[in-house]
Amino acid sequence: MPEKKYDAIVIGAGPAGASAARTLTAGGMSALLIEKKKLPRHKMCSGILSHWSTDFTQRHFGVIPESAYSGEIPFLRGFSAHFPSVSEPVLLDNRSPVPNIRRKDFDFFLAEKSGAAIKDGLMMEDIKTEKGGYAVSCKRFGKNGRAAKTTLRAKYLVAADGSNSRAVWRMFPEACKGLPMTGGIQIHYRGKIDLDPEYYHVFFYPGLGFYTWASVKDGLIWIGNAGMGENKPARLHEKYLEMLKKNYGLEIQETVFREGMSAHILAPYNKFILGTENFLVAGDAAGFMHQGGEGISCALTSGHLAGQAILEAEKNHGRAHDIYRVIARGEVELCLDQFNPLKMFMKFPFRIDFVSLLKNYTPRGFFLTTRDFRAFMSQDTGVDKKILGRIAKQNMIHHLIRGHYPVEL
Ligand SMILES: Cc1cc2nc3c(=O)[nH]c(=O)nc-3n(C[C@H](O)[C@H](O)[C@H](O)COP(=O)(O)OP(=O)(O)OC[C@H]3O[C@@H](n4cnc5c(N)ncnc54)[C@H](O)[C@@H]3O)c2cc1C
Repeated sequence: MPEKKYDAIVIGAGPAGASAARTLTAGGMSALLIEKKKLPRHKMCSGILSHWSTDFTQRHFGVIPESAYSGEIPFLRGFSAHFPSVSEPVLLDNRSPVPNIRRKDFDFFLAEKSGAAIKDGLMMEDIKTEKGGYAVSCKRFGKNGRAAKTTLRAKYLVAADGSNSRAVWRMFPEACKGLPMTGGIQIHYRGKIDLDPEYYHVFFYPGLGFYTWASVKDGLIWIGNAGMGENKPARLHEKYLEMLKKNYGLEIQETVFREGMSAHILAPYNKFILGTENFLVAGDAAGFMHQGGEGISCALTSGHLAGQAILEAEKNHGRAHDIYRVIARGEVELCLDQFNPLKMFMKFPFRIDFVSLLKNYTPRGFFLTTRDFRAFMSQDTGVDKKILGRIAKQNMIHHLIRGHYPVEL
């Protein structure tokens, strides 16, 4: 039987892909959402939904089902920042508690509500431009382990296949050349730890990589760390566990689940990949990422904008990328504001409510933690601070003079 034709194919059933598909179907176009894993699928993530993402989701997809909230602690009060020379953590509360979700259930809810046809267990392997659109070669593994190949075609394509996007690599093989890679691991342990489960915990201890976090979720302790270059996460994880054992009473009974990721660093290098012609890129794949690794809000927004660009291109016989690069500019600028020191402290351009969080940061807390924070920031984390500092300075000046950042989209 010939494959049913869709106006658009969306690759990847994460927040960006579901949001693009939702916008397309709400605007009267047909969309096929393809996902390489079987749904519902787990995604490495802390699962903290900002108020902004929650509002967006409720507006476009409806009420988030209870099943998507983490069991014992469905809402988190805020962040807990830990410093080596201060015995008590600094507790930074949100203006009101934020949803603590399970990505598996949350993303599945988004995909189901998108109104698109869904094909899971189907991996995009290659993309070819052809007359009138795109041919997407896909592979599906059967129960016997044999791969079945199929080619799907559509006029419009949205790549929302997350960090290290294969779609971007196939369409723009040079796009990420020379950009540094970062890696992270998160291990779920059964055991005990003296950490308040109503907070997400971040540790400003030098020598453990540039980002170390922990949370207690669904009866397990989630412990993660990220690093670059010499600071490979797997190498530093043991050292991090030792610190948690010594200072936070960590006792491990069982290792339940390990996961890892690697990604090119794009936004801090002024790099965004939005696509070409009628091929659009959204979410992590495009480089959208906010400070602190908050990425669900910009995945939802950029997916939505990609969908809008396609609807408008179809209506006015234009090219979707010409529209997307204009309407997604605000989202790009917002990401870059978060790496611009002037904007960071004057405009608070974050979708995490840093203003409420910082209100709880008392002058005493500030005084006590400054030295530790400086030591943490001056360690060698594998991040090229000179280059990043130079880009941030150039961006700041460019923005002051011209009112926008020097990014080609
Ligand atoms: C450790 C960690 C913690 C995080 N915590 C938070 C947090 O608490 N809050 C927050 O806002 N953000 C957080 N983020 C960021 C957030 O997870 C991402 O920004 C967000 O998931 C991006 O959404 P996306 O739709 O672009 O990509 P994804 O959610 O990664 O979805 C991409 C989808 O594409 C599929 N796919 C990939 N390749 C193919 C292919 N070839 N064919 C078909 N399908 C494919 C994948 O299986 C996946 O389902 C965290 C990230 C990490 C790594």
